[in-house]
Amino acid sequence: METKKPLHPLTIRDVNTETFLNARYVNDLRNKLQAVEIDPRKEQRLAQHECRTCFYLRGERLAMQAFWDWTCNLCGVEGTYSCSAHPKLCTKCATDNSLCRECTGDMDDVQKRRKEL
Ligand SMILES: [Zn+2]
Ligand SMILES: [Zn+2]
Repeated sequence: METKKPLHPLTIRDVNTETFLNARYVNDLRNKLQAVEIDPRKEQRLAQHECRTCFYLRGERLAMQAFWDWTCNLCGVEGTYSCSAHPKLCTKCATDNSLCRECTGDMDDVQKRRKEL
């Protein structure tokens, strides 16, 4: 096989940096999972009408400074939202049905037993 000299030959420092980042990533995930369990910012989460999964795990969406049109997936009301993570439901529909505005999952993470909303 042909071999070429790599542009950036791997060093032990690179290996250690990656290892460090991996450990930090795992630790970060562990903290987030723990937050899902204990819900430490419940008040803020409920004020934003988000379920625990969206608030603690999907929380760091890249927010772009732009205005987006969106329509509520339930009642059809239209609105604009100032970042790329726009909700799927209006506040009223989310509140009335106890659903997350972002993902439409149940606010208490419980499967709905009824057949319709
Ligand atoms: Zn609605
Ligand atoms: Zn959600």
